[in-house]
Amino acid sequence: MRLKILWESGALPGLEIPAGRAIELILGIPVDAEENGVLLAGYDPARSQYDAQKILHRIQLYKRKRTIPGPIMVVTHRDLFVRGADFVFGLARESTGVAVVSTARFYNEFYQREKDEELLLSRISTEGAHEAGHLLGLDHCPDSQCIMFPPETLDQLDGKKTVLCDGCRNILRGVFSPPVIDSIN
Ligand SMILES: [Zn+2]
Ligand SMILES: [Zn+2]
Repeated sequence: MRLKILWESGALPGLEIPAGRAIELILGIPVDAEENGVLLAGYDPARSQYDAQKILHRIQLYKRKRTIPGPIMVVTHRDLFVRGADFVFGLARESTGVAVVSTARFYNEFYQREKDEELLLSRISTEGAHEAGHLLGLDHCPDSQCIMFPPETLDQLDGKKTVLCDGCRNILRGVFSPPVIDSIN
C-alpha cells in the first residue's frame, strides 16, 4: 500500500518533502507526492472557508476516474469547515480512502505568534499522519501524545508526539501483516 499526497501549490512552501518523509516514517508506508491544485470544491463565501466534505467528494471522483487504488490525501492552504464546527484541521473518509488536511491554522502567524517553521513542519506531519492513519484503518486514540488522538485546539495538536503509541502501532502492524492461513495438506 502506498499513500498519495496531492499538495496544492502554496500549501506548505518548501516543506513538502520533509513533511512527506515524516508521515512515511510515522506510519511506515511509502508516500508519493505531487503538486495538484484542481481538487478544491465547496467554497462558502459567507464563511470564507471550504466545505471539507465537498472536497472529499471531489477527491473521490478524481480517484475513481484515474483508477487509483490506494489512499489519497490532499493538503491545501485553504481553511476548512464541516457542518457543526467552526473549523477542522483535516477530515478523512476511510470507506473511500480519501482525506484532506488544511495548513491554514498551522502557521503561528494565524494566531499573531512569531513565525516558526519547525512547528509548522511538525503540525503538518502530525495532522497529515493522523488523517492518513484513518485511511489505513486506525480509529481515535485516548492517549493525548499519540498521533491518533483527536486534537481540538492547536495546543492539543502541539502536545502530540510525532509517533503512534504502542497500541496503535500494533493495530497497524496487524492490518498490514499477511493473514495466517493454515494449510491442510
Ligand atoms: Zn481523526
Ligand atoms: Zn494511539
